[in-house]
Parts: sequence; structure tokens; C-alpha cells
Amino acid sequence: MTAEGVAYPIDLHTHSLRSDGAYAPGDLIRMAASRGVRVQALADHDTLAGVAEAVAVGEQLGVRVIPATELNTESDWGDVHVLGYFVDPADAGLEDRLRWLRENRGRRIELMVERLAALGHPVRLERVMEIAQGGALGRPHLAQALFEAGHVPSYDAAFDTLLSKDSPAYVARVGLTPLEAVRLIRAHRGVPSLAHPGTVAVELEVALPELVDAGLAGIECYYGSHSVDATVRYLSLAERYGLIPTGGSDFHGRGEHGAPLGGVRVPPASVAALDERRRSALAGAAYHVEPLGRAR
Ligand code: AMP
Ligand code: ZN
Ligand code: FE
Ligand code: FE
Repeated sequence: MTAEGVAYPIDLHTHSLRSDGAYAPGDLIRMAASRGVRVQALADHDTLAGVAEAVAVGEQLGVRVIPATELNTESDWGDVHVLGYFVDPADAGLEDRLRWLRENRGRRIELMVERLAALGHPVRLERVMEIAQGGALGRPHLAQALFEAGHVPSYDAAFDTLLSKDSPAYVARVGLTPLEAVRLIRAHRGVPSLAHPGTVAVELEVALPELVDAGLAGIECYYGSHSVDATVRYLSLAERYGLIPTGGSDFHGRGEHGAPLGGVRVPPASVAALDERRRSALAGAAYHVEPLGRAR
């Protein structure tokens, strides 16, 4: 036990069927509750559609659900994924931007389906949509369809072969730049945190000052696939740049990222710090927001 104490599981990074997770939002919260989780962020990619259901079930079971979304960006900085905490599902302006991002996701997956067919690995787009059940489309849905059709030996293998970044079937994401993602969350009074910083391809000492300047408030230090050394390094970067150390399982119920639901230790102090940031965001500390471009 640390001085802060870790009395109960906290999971600030989970995905449901509303994006590329395998479980309905309510079922995800039920599973988490049965594992003792008391604070959970639902962070579906580019959507807040699961929040109401998750919050309702959380209220019954004593799980505090934090509404969130994960904005994945792909650029010469590599994969910069931004978690936005405390965004409001009723915010129409934000929903407009999220809808645009979801449309981009759909087009990207359609293009990948076309390329896969041309490469001799046909899957039916209808089947991919069925798997997604209306959720924001992503490679996980395609991976499952490829596995079902026998084109890959396992779901995970799809990411290492046909769906990897160096595969001829791969289509890069079109959407926000990393700085735009951070600004979008801030503009809508959310609290942005850099997810799994290990996927950032440039030195964090280069990226973080710019991200912090754009309004980044946290960094995901606690993550299933981080080594102890990596966690220590991210914690020291958090301290250096004044960022809140966040963490979570990134549970999808499909391929996992090194930890089961609720399985990453996150100190309650991190939630308290996020709450504090949330209060100052709501207090409307004047914040300059750049107009958002449509293309990268
Ligand atoms: P996309 O956003 O469509 O590029 O897909 C990214 C999602 O795929 C991430 O959110 C992960 O959940 C999942 N993913 C990426 N790489 C892997 C992998 N190697 N194994 C399992 N899931 C993965
Ligand atoms: Zn995902
Ligand atoms: Fe991510
Ligand atoms: Fe994620």
C-alpha cells in the first residue's frame, strides 16, 4: 500500500460495444462492479453513446462512471491517443465533431475492406457492420471478420499481418492532429490525458511541451503493458510537466492490452486530481481555442 492507499480498483480506460469493445455499456459496468471497481471511465472511441446506459447501471451498483472518449490520432508523431474525461454527451457541438470522426472511421474501414478483397482476403462489409452492432467502426471489427472468414489464424494475428501498419491493406486514419484532439477536449470543458504514451513515436520530451501548451492535463502512467521502468519514467514526466497520472486497463473484451478489466492499479488521488481539474475547467478559466481544421 502506498501512502495514498489503493483501497479499491479504479479503471479510467474502458471500451464498450458503442465503439470497438465486445460488451454493452451496462454489461461492462456490471462486470467491473463484480470485480470491485468503484470508479470507471467509459472511453469509447469518438462517441459518448454508451454513457447514459453505463451511468444508469453504475448508479444501481455503486460504480461512479466518468463519461469519456478516446480520440485516436495518427501522424508523424505516431499514434497519439487522447482520452477526454468529463465531456458532456448532451454537448451538440462536440457531438458534431465526433460524428465527423465516426464517419471517417467508417470510410477508412470500407477502404480497407476493398483493399483486402483486392489482395485476396475478402470479407463482407455487411458482416463487419453486424459485428460492430452500430458502434464506431475500427480495425477490431475487421480483425474479427477476417478471423471468422479464415483469413487469419486468430483475432490477434490480424493486427500483426493483414491489418498492421505496413500491410498493403492498411489505410491511415484521417482526422485530428494530436494538438487538435487536445484542444477539442479542452474547448468542450473536458480534461485531456495522453493514453498509453508508449505508442508515441517521437521523444515525449518533444511532444509533451506542445501537448501541454495545447491544454493536456494528464498522462496515462498506469497501463497493463507498461514495464515498471516505463511506469517510473512516465510518472517522472508527469511530475516534470505538471500532469495528472491516469491509468486503466484499455479493456475491450477482445484483444487485451496487458490487464483485465479493473486490473491496473490507479490511485484515488488521480481521480481527485481529475475532479479538481474538472472544477477549474467548468469555472471557465479563459482558454484560447484555435479553429479546428478539417484535414490533418
Ligand atoms: P483503429 O482505431 O481502427 O486503428 O484500431 C485501433 C484499435 O485496435 C485499438 O483501440 C486497439 O483496441 C486495437 N488494437 C490495435 N492493435 C492491436 C493488437 N495488436 N492487438 C489487439 N488489438 C489491437
Ligand atoms: Zn479500441
Ligand atoms: Fe488507444
Ligand atoms: Fe483505448
